[in-house]
Amino acid sequence: MLTDIEIAQGCQMQTIDQIAQKLGIREEELEPYGRYKAKIPDEVIERFANEPDGKLVLVTAINPTPAGEGKTTTTVGLGQAMEKIGKKAVIALREPSLGPVFGIKGGAAGGGYAQVVPMEDINLHFTGDMHAITAANNLLCAIIDNHMQQGNVLGIDPRRILFKRCMDMNDRALRNCIVGLGGKVNGVPREDHFQITVASEIMAILCLSTDLADLKKRLGNILVAYTYDNQPVYARDLRVAGSMAALLKDALKPNLVQTLENTPALMHGGPFANIAHGCNSIKATKLALKLGDYCITEAGFGSDLGAEKFLDIKCRYGGLTPSCIVIVATMRALKYNAGVPKADTGIPNPEALQKGMVNLEAHVANMKSYGVPVVVAINRFLTDSDEEIAVLSDFCEKNGVEFALSEVFAKGGEGGVALAEKVVAACEKENHFHFLYDTALPVKEKIEKIAKNIYGADGVVYTPQSEKNIKEIEDLGFGNLPICVAKTQYSLSDDPAKLGRPTGFTITVKEARVSAGAGFIVVLTGDIMTMPGLPKAPAACKIDISDDGHISGLF
Ligand code: ADP
Ligand code: MG
Repeated sequence: MLTDIEIAQGCQMQTIDQIAQKLGIREEELEPYGRYKAKIPDEVIERFANEPDGKLVLVTAINPTPAGEGKTTTTVGLGQAMEKIGKKAVIALREPSLGPVFGIKGGAAGGGYAQVVPMEDINLHFTGDMHAITAANNLLCAIIDNHMQQGNVLGIDPRRILFKRCMDMNDRALRNCIVGLGGKVNGVPREDHFQITVASEIMAILCLSTDLADLKKRLGNILVAYTYDNQPVYARDLRVAGSMAALLKDALKPNLVQTLENTPALMHGGPFANIAHGCNSIKATKLALKLGDYCITEAGFGSDLGAEKFLDIKCRYGGLTPSCIVIVATMRALKYNAGVPKADTGIPNPEALQKGMVNLEAHVANMKSYGVPVVVAINRFLTDSDEEIAVLSDFCEKNGVEFALSEVFAKGGEGGVALAEKVVAACEKENHFHFLYDTALPVKEKIEKIAKNIYGADGVVYTPQSEKNIKEIEDLGFGNLPICVAKTQYSLSDDPAKLGRPTGFTITVKEARVSAGAGFIVVLTGDIMTMPGLPKAPAACKIDISDDGHISGLF
């Protein structure tokens, strides 16, 4: 079989104005970035504002293996399959970050015959949104340091600056650093930190903002530091929100690309799914709903993290109602959940599969508890045996769970027709979508609802540090924000070693922070890395470009 990049390079792309035309967008309305990418300006969004909304389909997954279970691949393939059965679908995805592209995981444009293209551009600089976010983030940092240099009228305590610098690269050497060295003219020395751009609050803000006015308001609301006498300092106090918004004016516009089969796809924004909410922008999702009859979108990690936040944060802020939730399951992840070592998950093992099924059971029950119809997509790998597929289909049939085998990786849209038909039928079913919690509840009660109902925990334990943090957040008046839990993606619990469907455990909250601009309370249950490192053999060492400009080794 060809590699992802070889398949992508062999694809017959249409020019971006042809893709736009299919959606009813006029050539003169597009802002093209080359021939195959374009930004969609607000005029288009306004022109379509009164169109009826299509159906919103969320693609999520069970607890994954470190390799990823194919949510993006399934999202893209389902969009392609919708076209095959005569439905007008628009895909809404996150933009890739350079960190994973050059690290271990690789790109984020799908796989096999279910990809978005031009994959090299999408995985590398794309339309520059990441750079604009990085610039806006670091402008705020420069202004903070300059404020202290120029007399520090606000009395910012250099030991209590919360807002970090960022870069779109896996670079562990920058996690902790000292800035301002070199004497009086070179700034006020202090400890600083870098995060990867996708972990920046600016990214989360971009994705939750509905328009420029909302963006500016949220940027101004970022809690950046405390003063020597313990008073909060917001970005608006530094009068920098306007400049930051100006830097982000184009980044706020959704990007249009296409799949290998010329299905339109909006790729816009890409926040982390731990310290942020892990899904593409509200603007892109809403636009996709106006432009298509179906918007197929993805949330990061498993349903306990990504889907919970999609439903309780993104849908709440965006006024969105999902019509169907697709849960991607793979044999390898189910076997991994039964304790099979990662290296052996490709070996047929129906007994282990049966044992790991409890994980799927939990995700199905959780998603159904939101009142939305659920379809399980079995993402088929070459190594899957017929016996294993029978175990999984028996389970779904016995438990009354709608399911379909998805072969979009190997066959493209054609391999997703069965899934597309199930999804179309599910979208017509009764829908009683509701949020898991009311934001007016006290912070701890909201956290407990998530821990008990979604993770299956007996309760929540708070460290003295997190008790203090929660009190501070409530005292500042942010107690009514939704909750964004940062937790391991490998388990329903906060312990990556507890696989399957753990019971008899508690969740330990170590720290809580407020992302006052984005509009959520981040609850940390472990050590969460916001600046990843590179592995011993980084993907960067395999990527090359030939003298005539042909890129290889990207995956
Ligand atoms: P996620 O979005 O859940 O992280 P991706 O869709 O990015 O997962 O897929 C993770 C990796 O697995 C990608 O490299 C993709 O090409 C590969 N992959 C996905 N589905 C299949 C499949 N059915 N067979 C082989 N490889 C697959
Ligand atoms: Mg993905």
